Amino acid sequence: MQKVKGTYDVLPNESHKWLFLEKHIHMMMKKHQVDYVRTPVFEYFDVFHRQTEASDMVTKETYDFEDRSGRKMTLRPEGTAGVIRSIVENKLITPNQILKTYYLGANYRYERPQKGRYREFYQTGVEFIGEKNALLDAEIIQIAYEIVHTLGIQEVVVKLNHLGNTDTRLKYQNALKSFLVPLKDQLSEDSKMRLESNPLRILDSKVSSDQAILINAPVLKEFLTDTDQAYFKSVIKILEQYHIPYEIDEKLVRGLDYYSHVVFEIQANIDGFGSQNALGGGGRYDDLVAELGGPNVSGIGFALGLERLIIAAELQGISFEEDELHHVAVLHMDHESKNQAYHIYKKLLNEGIHVTFDFSNKAFKTQLKHALFHQYAYAIIIGKDEIDTNTVQIKNLVTQTQEVVSMKDIMTYLNK
Ligand code: AMP
Repeated sequence: MQKVKGTYDVLPNESHKWLFLEKHIHMMMKKHQVDYVRTPVFEYFDVFHRQTEASDMVTKETYDFEDRSGRKMTLRPEGTAGVIRSIVENKLITPNQILKTYYLGANYRYERPQKGRYREFYQTGVEFIGEKNALLDAEIIQIAYEIVHTLGIQEVVVKLNHLGNTDTRLKYQNALKSFLVPLKDQLSEDSKMRLESNPLRILDSKVSSDQAILINAPVLKEFLTDTDQAYFKSVIKILEQYHIPYEIDEKLVRGLDYYSHVVFEIQANIDGFGSQNALGGGGRYDDLVAELGGPNVSGIGFALGLERLIIAAELQGISFEEDELHHVAVLHMDHESKNQAYHIYKKLLNEGIHVTFDFSNKAFKTQLKHALFHQYAYAIIIGKDEIDTNTVQIKNLVTQTQEVVSMKDIMTYLNK
């Protein structure tokens, strides 16, 4: 048996990275008072396959299936739509209040697997729903950046763009199309197709001949209304105030069609990271909540890819270790002392000490070697004499000094 193409196992010797990262994310969200929401991995087909959503991700990459009763289902390819479905269904949106929520879970896309691109992958994301306000746009960008930055990942930049409102986008889309139609034959196959389905995505093309054609294309910025320009400037001003490194990228459109206004992407410029250098991204959506049956309110969100955060952190030598814990090994000198050693081990474990015990029947010397090999800080040694005198020997494995400590004083000794 083999794992499915594009999936991976997190093996026991690397799972600490995931636990560390997930804990980091939960802590950051708590700090920013964003509440956790968990929605199902699969939803009814229509939650993702909406009329207005013609992105490749939804039209070509979803895992769609029928359940045994013939209902059409989709494994979620992204987090936002399911979360909004839940918020609307549970009537969590109240006037004049901003709902702040985050998720963390697996998504599924039938993509061509490569480094940093999988068919099952994890994302965490935040959604702020209920108001359109430059402070919120800047705040959400700062949270995304902070999660990455406080992990210790350097060389990160926020790419920013403003897509305008629906009307602006439509006007720009038409202008872009008029410009590109006469040049259609020179476009890449993908871009040719996008000319009909989603011309804005052509801006995103990685093909150099497409980019050469685009040099003289109309630019989106010139279509923005004064209000949108002012809004964008306010967002940028706040980011500058809080020293968030950003770059304006007029070609940034993002993969999903529901975005309007401010969009952003967090990119890592790390050697060895390869072409999949987006750690995450997001943007504002004006119509999505209403489209999913909710009130007519705006929202803004982002998603970060956990695999890419791990790859980026590893490339930068980040260790994923908790602050060094003083590890204690409880060793028994002979078979008769094993029960008492186990008893001490359980007591220390309940006190929250990072402690190990040898469940097998290894000789004392082997147990000690093992503790030294793993660079534990202390060994608590117990044999017949210790049991008789209600004591233990505590050996400092670094200095190799040893002391007799009364059984009842072990915790006081270790706390010191
Ligand atoms: P998106 O939902 O497409 O806006 O992607 C947001 C982030 O999720 C990306 O920047 C990646 O970090 C991550 N991501 C998206 N698709 C994949 C994938 N197939 N494999 C791994 N990570 C992904």
